[in-house]
Amino acid sequence: MLVNVNGKLVDQDKAVVSVFDHGLLYGDGVFEGIRAYHGRVFRLDDHLKRLYDSAKAILLKVPVSQAEMRNQVLRTLAANHLKDGYVRLVVTRGVGDLGLSPDRCKEQTYFIIADKINLYPEKYYREGLEIVTVPTRRNVNEALSPKIKSLNYLNNIMAKIEAGQRGALEAIMLTQEGYVAECTGDNIFILRRGKLLTPPCYLGALEGVTREVVMELAAKLKIPFAEEPFTRYDVYTSDEAFLTGTAAEVVPVVKVDGRSLGSGKPGALTKRLIAAFRKVTLGDGPKIPLKG
Ligand code: PMP
Repeated sequence: MLVNVNGKLVDQDKAVVSVFDHGLLYGDGVFEGIRAYHGRVFRLDDHLKRLYDSAKAILLKVPVSQAEMRNQVLRTLAANHLKDGYVRLVVTRGVGDLGLSPDRCKEQTYFIIADKINLYPEKYYREGLEIVTVPTRRNVNEALSPKIKSLNYLNNIMAKIEAGQRGALEAIMLTQEGYVAECTGDNIFILRRGKLLTPPCYLGALEGVTREVVMELAAKLKIPFAEEPFTRYDVYTSDEAFLTGTAAEVVPVVKVDGRSLGSGKPGALTKRLIAAFRKVTLGDGPKIPLKG
């Protein structure tokens, strides 16, 4: 595998960053997870926009322009002969000293890993996921905007561990007030009383690219939809629920905190959206310059 480190394609064993990089020492950096389908990079420009917005919010200068980064992503996938895959793009504050201040970090680091995707097993798309609510809360706006996709994922990791301790693969994270925010690495939607709902981003949901695609599909398919705060009660009494994320795509949820939702099987609307989503991924995004 070839990894792109600051624009150079190097063998994966040689793809290293310094122990003095503030991305490692302090989680000072931002990242994206991106998918390629059928030789095209899905919603690449949306991911780049979010990356550059996250960087701007933390006063991090990305060392190359957005257009150049776009080329570097495509080039990295091509160098690894990947038509379908997952891209991890990371920008860090770079090498500094042991102090917190980024002032001594003169050059920012970026790297791009293009690999095969490790999905939820197919069974969950057919049968649905059982998830739980966990004690660890989503980041609060007053501390650090949860819209920033930063290298600080520790509370999401704690939530993931708490989910695992209870035998679940994903977890609902709440706001301080007890509203549903999102999951540890996915956004959440519920269908309740004929209306599709997802929490508004001001409650702490990431502006998910997949979330956005599902919102577009809901409009196109004329499904009543709102970004609206809701609680665990609304989830328990919903007819359907599903999660969205670049890696997960659209995955049904059939049980939350021991309560079966609706029929206890993936719902009709969820199945319709999964099919519609898969169709959208077929011809969307810039082409990977694969040879031959
Ligand atoms: N929420 C969080 C906290 C995430 O890390 C992710 C995945 N990057 C998502 C939601 C889903 O966002 P997207 O659809 O852009 O992958």
